[in-house]
Amino acid sequence: MSSDTLILPTPEIFSAFPYTPPYNIQAQLMRHLYEAIENRKVTVIESPTGTGKTSSLLCASLTWLHDEKNRARKGKLNNAATGDDWVSTQTRDRLRRQLEAEELEYEQRLADARQKEAQLKSRARVWKKPKPDDKPQQPFIDGDASFLPEDGGTPGDDDMNLSPAVKALMARMDSHTNNEEPEMACTKIYYASRTHSQLTQVLPELRKLKIPGCSMVNINAVSNLDHDVPYSLGKRKEQDNLSSICSDDHKYYQSRALSLGSRKHLCINAELRARVKDIDEGCRELLAEKKENRCPYLPPVGEEVRMNEFRDQILANPKDIEDLALSGRVSGICPYFASRKAIPQAELITLPYNLLLQKSAREALGINLKDQIVVVDEGHNLIPTLLSLSTVHLSLPLVQTALYQVTTYVTKFRNKLNPANLVQLKRLLVFLDALAKYSGEWRDMRVEPGANDTQCAQSKVSPTTKTEQKSQQLEVQEVLTPAELIERMGRKVLGLNMLEIVNYLKKSKIARKISGYAEKLIEQAEKDLGPKKQVPASRKGVVPPLHVIEDLMTALAGATDDGRISLTLINTSGPSIASKSRPKQPSTVDIRYHLLNPAPHFRDVVDEARAVIIAGGTMSPISDVQNQLFSHLPPQRITSFSCGHIIPPENVLTVAVTKGPSGRELDFRAGNQGDSSTLSDLGQIILNFTRIIPGGMIVFFPSYKFLENAKSAWALATDGGYLEKFDAKKKVFFEPEDQAGVESVLQQYATAVAGSSTTSQTGALLLAVIGAKLSEGLNFADDLARAVVVVGLPFANLASAELRERMRYVKREEEKLLRERRKETVEGAQPPTALRGKDAAAELYENMCMNAVNQSIGRAIRHRGDWAALLLLDQRYSNLSIRGKLPKWLGGDNLVVPGQFGGVMKQMGAFFHAKGRTG
Ligand code: SF4
Repeated sequence: MSSDTLILPTPEIFSAFPYTPPYNIQAQLMRHLYEAIENRKVTVIESPTGTGKTSSLLCASLTWLHDEKNRARKGKLNNAATGDDWVSTQTRDRLRRQLEAEELEYEQRLADARQKEAQLKSRARVWKKPKPDDKPQQPFIDGDASFLPEDGGTPGDDDMNLSPAVKALMARMDSHTNNEEPEMACTKIYYASRTHSQLTQVLPELRKLKIPGCSMVNINAVSNLDHDVPYSLGKRKEQDNLSSICSDDHKYYQSRALSLGSRKHLCINAELRARVKDIDEGCRELLAEKKENRCPYLPPVGEEVRMNEFRDQILANPKDIEDLALSGRVSGICPYFASRKAIPQAELITLPYNLLLQKSAREALGINLKDQIVVVDEGHNLIPTLLSLSTVHLSLPLVQTALYQVTTYVTKFRNKLNPANLVQLKRLLVFLDALAKYSGEWRDMRVEPGANDTQCAQSKVSPTTKTEQKSQQLEVQEVLTPAELIERMGRKVLGLNMLEIVNYLKKSKIARKISGYAEKLIEQAEKDLGPKKQVPASRKGVVPPLHVIEDLMTALAGATDDGRISLTLINTSGPSIASKSRPKQPSTVDIRYHLLNPAPHFRDVVDEARAVIIAGGTMSPISDVQNQLFSHLPPQRITSFSCGHIIPPENVLTVAVTKGPSGRELDFRAGNQGDSSTLSDLGQIILNFTRIIPGGMIVFFPSYKFLENAKSAWALATDGGYLEKFDAKKKVFFEPEDQAGVESVLQQYATAVAGSSTTSQTGALLLAVIGAKLSEGLNFADDLARAVVVVGLPFANLASAELRERMRYVKREEEKLLRERRKETVEGAQPPTALRGKDAAAELYENMCMNAVNQSIGRAIRHRGDWAALLLLDQRYSNLSIRGKLPKWLGGDNLVVPGQFGGVMKQMGAFFHAKGRTG
């Protein structure tokens, strides 16, 4: 019997879970996840913040991994001999002992590594950073010769991304690796989140898990797999009296966990970090250096044992990215390369999104997702990240700068460049020249002649806020396919082989050389101007223009059906275009390559992995993730799970407020947002709320423009003087337009909430914008948000050419898929008439809106003891379709829809009275 034929039944109890007994929703989530992994599903899981999501995800997936290991052993034993005779029994016993011995030997190795690390740490008090024992490393840029393209810069060779020096190094490293004993790779869980700071929360939860340790138990437990009763760690609870077999230290199994990061986070070569901007490139160059100039943190050839010891230390003790870098410094070994070596034996790998989602990053790290488990946490960020990873953003001035730099470079080095290089550089100049000309013409056609390039032809109204400026930009935007752009750039560009130029750029590293030369000229000019002239702050850390051009050309060369170029007219004079006090600036063009469809860039992950879990606190509407990422999958492979909250139902009140105090229906569509009676109704509603809500209260508006309208109207005594009235009950704050002001506003808001007991005010009121700086990622627990109010529905602006293009695209894709499904319909069956209840474009539009609403209301109720009211202001919230897109624990029947405003106040009064707190 092979291991593949053994099915792992879903456990009833997860004894590894650190908190016993788990809440029902936690147990349900774990069972759902275990089943999804076992049955190779793609699943979307919604588990609100504060419900122990991370613990549940880790416990279920590692329990499956533990059971899977036992299943694999069982398979091996069964494959060795199947009979019940004496010989078969002996064969199985011998193999069992061998497996045990191997496992114990490996555990001993890790125990030794743990001990060694402890010794190193205790010595680290007197540890000093190892110094490179030889001469200082050569700077990368040394004289004009270093600006010449790398050898072999002619198209056609393989490994276009690698210089010959790096290729030689890779070959050397491979040969070292090949001399080592092959390490057994194991099935693993890749746990991704958007940032390292989110990932640091994973390891503390991992340490709390109670997975039984000791090989003997694991081996013996194998026999349970055949039992009819569901087998799990929990079912073995009684027999897991491990003290008789294992020492206390090994009572619980320490999963081999590894944090993966980029060189940016893990490089410990301080000298290199101080010297270069591009650490990846700097490191590659160092690796290719001769012995004396190589990075001192890489053990010399023949001493790989130090690297292997450090790899074992990494696996023996889970470390987050900061601890990993620190351990590297203590050991004097590069943690970036050591962590790469640890991948095959790691059971849990935490990594940021970009390392999981970019194929090039996976390949560089040696990550193979075949049959592995992928967990994507903070899943609401997945689609935006997939789209942004492929986006290239540039402007007309950047194109002009790149053109100037290449022209200067070619003029200077013309006689030193070989003909092949010169040909490619001339082609690059053709491209840049054509792009600059076309963008300039595109701009000139859209500004009024004689208007000093400051006034947009399409808009006669001068915008006064960033929002207005933004909405004006939307009117002056055009979306093209890459083929259309190339055609408009002219005949010369049409004749270029874009792929050939891109290959040349990558192989010759000419972008870096040209940028380096341009930098040198600027520095020289600054020196000539005198000591007081500094490098402008704006230039420091800026990606060199040619690197962006290289990215754009790469995107154009490999453009897929869903790639688009957006051209947007931008006025560079700042928020106030028509301001008389500012000097007039010319308009410019913003150029953006972007994708309409995130799915192809996640498809590799989905197709290779055994199971994919997209988890988040707020994933509703779940259909959005399914439609956008998994339309190509058979429906039976996709599942979902949305659980309630562990808070008792009486800790949350969700109300759809459909009418104001005047009895008028609330409708905050864009056309009504400047209407004085609408603003007056809204002011009265918020005023009534401030009188009853204790502590902090956050009101989210659908746009800055609407918030500005309300602020202006409420400031006037003639229009109710609402701002003053709010302030009598709660100190009023507004979301700042600039990111720099956010921290200070939040600090003042929190102080006002905390200090309200000593003033006549009952807390603070924060007026913010959905989808802006305060609606995601912030934690407004307890008194910081006893109510979240959402005004209207934040539907995106349909005037946006980009949005319209995306909606057209999803509609076309849906029709294509429907045709395919019809073709696949078996004879006699009814062919599908639609893939879902609603047109794909309308569904996307509504889902984008509800995603934003759900993120905003998710700021409150952050832990099991928290409580708050969530108030949704607009009669459209009573629609079944909208209600169905709220998180399950808030929408559906949990949403209260009183007929009149008086009913809303009554509900709120009862809710806050029951909590013993009112405003
Ligand atoms: S080998 Fe490691 S420590 Fe050395 S430069 Fe590269 S990343 Fe930095």
